[in-house]
Amino acid sequence: MKKLLTGNEAVARGVYEAGITFAAAYPGTPSTEILENIAPYKEEIIAEWAPNEKVALESAIGASIVGARAFAAMKQVGVNVAADPLFSFAYTGCNGGIVLVSADEPGIHSSQNEQDNRMYAKFAKIPMLEPSNSQEAKDMVKDAIKISEMYDTIVLLRMTTRICHSKSLVELGEREEVGKKPYNKNPQKYATTPAYARKMRVRVEERIKKLKSFTEETPLNYFEWNKKKIGIISSGVAYQHAKEVFGKSASYLKLGFTFPLPMEKIKAFAAKVQTLYVIEEVEPYMEEQIKAMGIKCIGKEKIPNIGELNADIIRKGLLEEEKPLIECDTSDLVGRPPTLCAGCPHRGLFYELSKKKNIIVTGDIGCYGLGVADPLNAVDTVICMGASVSAGHGAQKALSKHGDHMRAVSVIGDSTFFHTGMNSLLDIAYNQSNTVTVILDNRTTGMTGHQENPGTGYTLQGEKTKEIDIPTLCRAIGIDHVKVVNPLKLEEVKTALNEALNLDEPSVIITRWPCVLKKHSDLDIDEFGDYKGLCEVDKDQCIGCKKCINTGCPALHFDKESKTVKIDKVQCVGCEVCVQVCPVHAIKKVGE
Ligand code: SF4
Ligand code: SF4
Repeated sequence: MKKLLTGNEAVARGVYEAGITFAAAYPGTPSTEILENIAPYKEEIIAEWAPNEKVALESAIGASIVGARAFAAMKQVGVNVAADPLFSFAYTGCNGGIVLVSADEPGIHSSQNEQDNRMYAKFAKIPMLEPSNSQEAKDMVKDAIKISEMYDTIVLLRMTTRICHSKSLVELGEREEVGKKPYNKNPQKYATTPAYARKMRVRVEERIKKLKSFTEETPLNYFEWNKKKIGIISSGVAYQHAKEVFGKSASYLKLGFTFPLPMEKIKAFAAKVQTLYVIEEVEPYMEEQIKAMGIKCIGKEKIPNIGELNADIIRKGLLEEEKPLIECDTSDLVGRPPTLCAGCPHRGLFYELSKKKNIIVTGDIGCYGLGVADPLNAVDTVICMGASVSAGHGAQKALSKHGDHMRAVSVIGDSTFFHTGMNSLLDIAYNQSNTVTVILDNRTTGMTGHQENPGTGYTLQGEKTKEIDIPTLCRAIGIDHVKVVNPLKLEEVKTALNEALNLDEPSVIITRWPCVLKKHSDLDIDEFGDYKGLCEVDKDQCIGCKKCINTGCPALHFDKESKTVKIDKVQCVGCEVCVQVCPVHAIKKVGE
């Protein structure tokens, strides 16, 4: 049977068909839907959200070592978090087959950087596969599991946004039930103590030699002969773009197994074509290796290494041709800068922070990044997951040491706190900076699309579980001053911030209110009720001061004609933040 699937859905199906029994991930665009689509296979697969990518990979490694087929998925920056176990596990090898998906994001649509994780395969010396459509995404999970078991190694399956999110037809297959291999105690294989690791290091090189033969033979790397004036070496989505531009006017060496590269096949291909192009997205990963072999080719001198590739960029770069664009009237399009949603529970905190003088606010990955934008301008830095807390600590220590009275406030979400913020808070408690850490607990993992986390009370597969209590955890970590506030009550937020900023010890404020877009769980309804409502502006009372506009709520807009503010009924959820800032009480809640 054939089904139209996204690359992520296809990977999930591949996990099922490959007989994998343990899968873990931390959500992150563009990889998130992989685990969400594995979760329904409850009978066959244990699927878990881990608090971070390192934990996800480490738990998959544990499952593999005891003999189960295992899987982990993450976005490109997540592999940085998981790099520590990845590099060691590349030495030990596996027992049950194991696959790691790195979903890279050329073009930086929702990440903090653009990195080409193909480099990780070369760096860690592990085999890599790169699908170029959904069918290959599914099949390559199964291939990767076999390669993993055959060559005793974890395998990297490298996807990119367009492969993850675009749909193509996939032929579904049956699940291969393989059971679990026996586990035999073997510290020489699994314990990377220096004496054993030195021997493992040699085995890694022996494995690479075997993989070099495999890459020349595998049908995952194949020729497509057409006219030989132009020859193209490509992989992943870049291959699809190249085909769109050149069609049958060029021959192709399509590479699906891209570490190690099939150098003999590449040499043979290069010898038969007149001009050789290497078409790849982001970095010159293949090109550099091909040029290092003394093979003449054209690549990044004509194709940019920044951003997503598409057919137009290739056409312009290599053929110096441009296709005419379809004319359209853009005058009706409204610019929509990224902003916190109407009714977002983070608005109250950022509004109060934006009014504070002499503070540096270190932000984190997630919706808190939106606190940087106008009109709130509340956040000063965004580095990576969990960095807000440690950066705040470092800033505070340095400020205090140099007699600067500026204070550091770190803002971090609940899921991000569980991800890597906890360790940083431990550092604050241990090394005692009077940093104010604000944990914005919106009862979900917001920006990636509402995944459960250790604080929500539910697992990925829908079971009720132990809800980790953040205030208790912070106290256990060593923070004595911990306060929970309702972020929709501005006075409460302001008092908590003032109190914390007056302390000469570390403190934590937890703003606890569900994300406005969240479907309320039974636990949420018990705690917060089923609140609804709407606010309206009395235009006779409004003096047009725009104070409410400064909250940044997209439901509010200033009507130039009447010089008053209006509230968009469709967007407003009646959170009443604007009500609290209006100096003349012109905004009122209407209806429940
Ligand atoms: S009550 Fe005010 S701040 Fe809240 S959603 Fe409505 S318009 Fe926005
Ligand atoms: S804060 Fe009140 S008075 Fe000022 S513009 Fe908004 S609704 Fe009008």
